[in-house]
Amino acid sequence: MAQPVLEIKDLTVAISGGGDRPNAIENVSFSVAKNEIVCVVGESGSGKSVTSQAVLQLLAKGQLKIAGGSIKLEGDELTTMTASQIRHVRGMRASMVFQEPMTALNPVERIGEQIGEVLEIHTDLDANQRRTKVLEVMRAVHLPDPEQMIDAYPHQLSGGQRQRVMIAAALVLDPALLIADEPTTALDVTTQAQILKLIKELQVRRDTGVLFITHDFGVVAEIAD
Ligand code: ADP
Ligand code: MG
Repeated sequence: MAQPVLEIKDLTVAISGGGDRPNAIENVSFSVAKNEIVCVVGESGSGKSVTSQAVLQLLAKGQLKIAGGSIKLEGDELTTMTASQIRHVRGMRASMVFQEPMTALNPVERIGEQIGEVLEIHTDLDANQRRTKVLEVMRAVHLPDPEQMIDAYPHQLSGGQRQRVMIAAALVLDPALLIADEPTTALDVTTQAQILKLIKELQVRRDTGVLFITHDFGVVAEIAD
């Protein structure tokens, strides 16, 4: 069998003082293969977000800490990486889409800049080349009138469009792994269905491994391998 894109083994995340229990998650193990969508399902508070945040070292500092286990991305151990090593992984090899795009997007920065930010950090592309690439990925996520929207601000977009922007930003560098933490929960049913269809379409086209987090079994039935 080919090496998984993501392999989590016996992952335990401890809560430091004042928590409702000693560990947010205990001995979690699963893996995601290339071109596979794995859903993690569970009730509110069961540790889904903590699991996904642990992958890219996004756990709340001073509150949550990996206490055991291993997280490998294409064979490379992530839990022991330094901050600068993990920055290199983020956006390039693995990226994340959150439930509420409004909190993840910068309200005073244009859409195009936010999608292109990872290109600025991780590539040598000049401003023109970045613009071309941003327009291309905006088209791929079916944002209407990209040439117009590239200069828009988040508040000028609908919720579904904002989620498409998040997905575009996450996928612009073709990462091997996409982590989506309840990406459709805040959307109405029709928009939710469109976003699910989009994730599936992009995942197949790019062979991406997807870790998809949800509390909704209808969504699981729709999207999971
Ligand atoms: P889910 O995403 O499945 O709804 P979470 O992963 O957000 O659940 O949370 C799991 C548990 O981890 C919570 O019930 C809480 O006990 C603990 N937890 C989450 N975030 C924090 C935090 N920042 N500080 C302390 N405990 C936390
Ligand atoms: Mg959550």
